[in-house]
Amino acid sequence: MIFDVLTLFPEMINAVLNQSIIGRAQKKGIITVNAINIRDFSRDKHHKADDYPYGGGTGMIMMAQPIYDAYLSIIEKIDYKPYVIYMSPQGKLLNQDIVKRLKELKHIIILCGHYEGVDERIIEKIVDEEISIGDYVLTGGELPAMVLIDAVSRCIPGVLSSGESYTEESLYNGLLEYPQYTRPYDFLGMKVPDVLLSGHHANIKKWRRKQSLLRTYLKRPDLFEKMNLSSEDMELLKEALKDLSG
Ligand code: SAM
Repeated sequence: MIFDVLTLFPEMINAVLNQSIIGRAQKKGIITVNAINIRDFSRDKHHKADDYPYGGGTGMIMMAQPIYDAYLSIIEKIDYKPYVIYMSPQGKLLNQDIVKRLKELKHIIILCGHYEGVDERIIEKIVDEEISIGDYVLTGGELPAMVLIDAVSRCIPGVLSSGESYTEESLYNGLLEYPQYTRPYDFLGMKVPDVLLSGHHANIKKWRRKQSLLRTYLKRPDLFEKMNLSSEDMELLKEALKDLSG
């Protein structure tokens, strides 16, 4: 899968995404992340890529032309249309369903705004979807782009090593993940639940499901309401709530 990131700050993207699991996936050739400097496509002799807003107001607006030329430099080399996302606080809120949809694509171009954002006409011209990472405003689209790339990449086969699985994790199936423990067994007098040491796989599975249901019910009632639970799950939740009060 290819991610082309159109940005004024390519070093930010490279510094973060060349590390850890995403860096490893790039080295293995499972994903490619290209950070493309929009400024390189400016036709201004000082490489200016932003200008004052028409109508007045504070801040600068990223100009459409350098962004469009950066976009053309990508699509000139291919015979299909990549999906173009503009990271924007005005976009749809990113969630795991959007991530699942995006992981099926083979090529995504991500436009990162900065300053007061981008000239509206570039959005009209090239953008397929606007995505936000939360209801707050950041200084630029680079962190949101990295959040999106990280979330999508870890769902691509081969990115996580065989022992790791994203399908068990929080939100993948609508529930939060159960609590996890590692050594030591006793930490400051707090012990790991015995069932996890029992070696009894069916009991462990049942305990984890119960904890997932309980956590989601307590921590994210909004998610819980959307779940269509079986009568077995409802029973497990009742048991979990009884254990809690018991
Ligand atoms: N003036 C814009 C507005 O009110 O909608 C906000 C511009 S913001 C300061 C600069 C850039 O940061 C945006 O163009 C966008 O690319 C990015 N950005 C800021 N907050 C974001 C968020 N919550 N999600 C995704 N991108 C965001």
